[in-house]
Amino acid sequence: MTMLPLAERYARFRDAVFAGVEETSLPGFADPVTEMELQSLWFSGAFGAEFTTTDGKTVRVADFGVWNSGAGPDFNDCAIEVDGQTLRGDIELDPDARDWERHQHGANEEYNRVVLHLFLHAPAERFFTRTSRHQEVPQVLLRNDMLPEGIKPRPNLAAARLGRCATPLREMEAARVQSILEAAAQHRLDLKSQRLHRNVAAHGREQAIYQALAQTLGYRKNQQPFIILAQRLPLKKVLKMDKTQREALLFGVSGFLESVRSEDVRPEARAYLRELWSEWWKQRDSCARWLDPRQLPRWKMTAIRPGNHPQRRLGALAAMLGAWPKIVAPLADAARWSQAAWRGSLLSLAHDFWNTHYTLLSESAEKAVALIGATRVHEMLANVAYPLLVPERTRLWAEYLEIPALLDNQKVRRAVLRLFGDEARGIEFTEKLHHQQGLLQIYEDFCLEDDSACANCPFPERLKDWS
Ligand code: SF4
Repeated sequence: MTMLPLAERYARFRDAVFAGVEETSLPGFADPVTEMELQSLWFSGAFGAEFTTTDGKTVRVADFGVWNSGAGPDFNDCAIEVDGQTLRGDIELDPDARDWERHQHGANEEYNRVVLHLFLHAPAERFFTRTSRHQEVPQVLLRNDMLPEGIKPRPNLAAARLGRCATPLREMEAARVQSILEAAAQHRLDLKSQRLHRNVAAHGREQAIYQALAQTLGYRKNQQPFIILAQRLPLKKVLKMDKTQREALLFGVSGFLESVRSEDVRPEARAYLRELWSEWWKQRDSCARWLDPRQLPRWKMTAIRPGNHPQRRLGALAAMLGAWPKIVAPLADAARWSQAAWRGSLLSLAHDFWNTHYTLLSESAEKAVALIGATRVHEMLANVAYPLLVPERTRLWAEYLEIPALLDNQKVRRAVLRLFGDEARGIEFTEKLHHQQGLLQIYEDFCLEDDSACANCPFPERLKDWS
């Protein structure tokens, strides 16, 4: 996928700004990334699909397979090509190469079909991966520089105060400020496109769309659990099910169904929960591995508005799956894209239970509340639809530029304060979605990388180079 021209210009500008400045190290895996999150990253294709094994062979992952819900290797039914030869079987991913022996996989017949062993750390001395049949398994050491830019979370907020670049930005003509914001916004969209299209390459277009939409339903705090759910319950599988089977699986694998105590259930929720359990008990044995507490998605519930509770968002995902052909049709082909039709389909999603409930245990609301509101649709436009479609039909960029801004958030407000100083100057650059996206990109690239209270940040001096 080629980079969009303005995005490339912004990336070159940013790299030039940092030229000669001491490089900060790439974020590593020392921070608490769980094994489950690492598996999720791998499975989304984030590390790519082509690698070199520890003994120098070329390996290409042709099929990422399915995430195993039972005993045995992490991923089943995979296909890889090693130096042009196709191997079908399982893939095991461990934090450390030596985990293979520590966990006795080498003596366990269930691991005999492993065709690729992935790990993040390896001992200095050569370590071989062997099955109980004494077959050597190709190994790949994963590195964080294989990940696309921006995939690792950064610190969320910089200090709320006027930044040193407010003066040059105030003195710059509006057209030049607009130009740098547009380029930064395009760069941001390009990064999102690359991540999304890696997933398309790994799992196909519809699965990648489903996963990206699920991610936006996680809001800021629960994106990872939603991604993991969508990966474990692939679209092909859930679309074959009827509504009750599908919802039972979603609420069962999420851990929400099992966390409900029957004595806490309100009378009006009993029928819905009974329906879910009538299917879940048939499916739960096959999902036993994912019900281990260490394997359950790590939901974050603190400081979440009732309407954004992940259970309700999961209800929205269930409603989306129920209307899937309508949801996916405008995204199937960039030439058939209609923003109005897509927006309309999302806003009209409905669900008998979730339109009036925030959680499985909450009281029924007096009036039905939209499952997906206008702000969420905006997030989906910014994070799914346009990143998917703009590289395929570049004239959609002009349409993207016209989308009004999302409701502002703390990060945008802080970016405006630091970059423009006063809201009056910043106001004309916060009206559109792309303004906010551009501001956020500059804020993340410069303000969040700066630890000198602006003193050593090269951005203000280099602004004059932007023409
Ligand atoms: S860190 Fe750099 S970009 Fe951010 S406000 Fe300070 S001078 Fe401006």
